[in-house]
Amino acid sequence: MKAHTKETQATMTPEKSLQYLKEGNKRFQDNLKANRNLLEQVNDTSDGQFPFATILSCIDSRVSAELVFDQGLGDIFSVRIAGNFVNEDILGSMEFACKLAGTKLIVVLGHTSCGAIKGACDHAEMGNLTKLIEKINPAVNAVVEPKDESLRTSKNLDFVDEVSKKNVELTIERIHSESPILTEMEKDGEIKIVGAMYNINTGAVEFY
Ligand SMILES: [Zn+2]
Repeated sequence: MKAHTKETQATMTPEKSLQYLKEGNKRFQDNLKANRNLLEQVNDTSDGQFPFATILSCIDSRVSAELVFDQGLGDIFSVRIAGNFVNEDILGSMEFACKLAGTKLIVVLGHTSCGAIKGACDHAEMGNLTKLIEKINPAVNAVVEPKDESLRTSKNLDFVDEVSKKNVELTIERIHSESPILTEMEKDGEIKIVGAMYNINTGAVEFY
């Protein structure tokens, strides 16, 4: 498989980009890899990059976007932060990726058993992490069940995963409300913004 070029990027649509990622994740789950020579791709991409998707995911060592979607060099922009939320800088990175560098799809990828989400569920405090975890609080508060406080902790993995899903939804809402550039591109059909969850037990990505 060759690295994307200006020409191949131009043939990509938001739907086709999503299809590529779904197929890549299927290969990953089947323990298959597209036949690509990474060193050759270093050479192919040395004059420029023409990726088709931008993926916002967690720093979690088990959730590398390139690996779980079986992608090579020059295929995706990978934005990573614990808890996969957005701020001004990340929105700026996404605007660069879509408006200037031509990607057709934004994926906000949460994952099961996320440590940052667990920290938010437990209201953890430690150094600079305290501020980061506060950014996830809206997702914790938006999941109303269970009401019993003793069940709203990291020990309840169902609750943790519900908060992760909600966090993806709220992150997409924030992209819409805080990035007129991306919202307009989506309205015009130039890009699509989708949410997904990676299951750390199976390697499967579920889009929603
Ligand atoms: Zn995580």
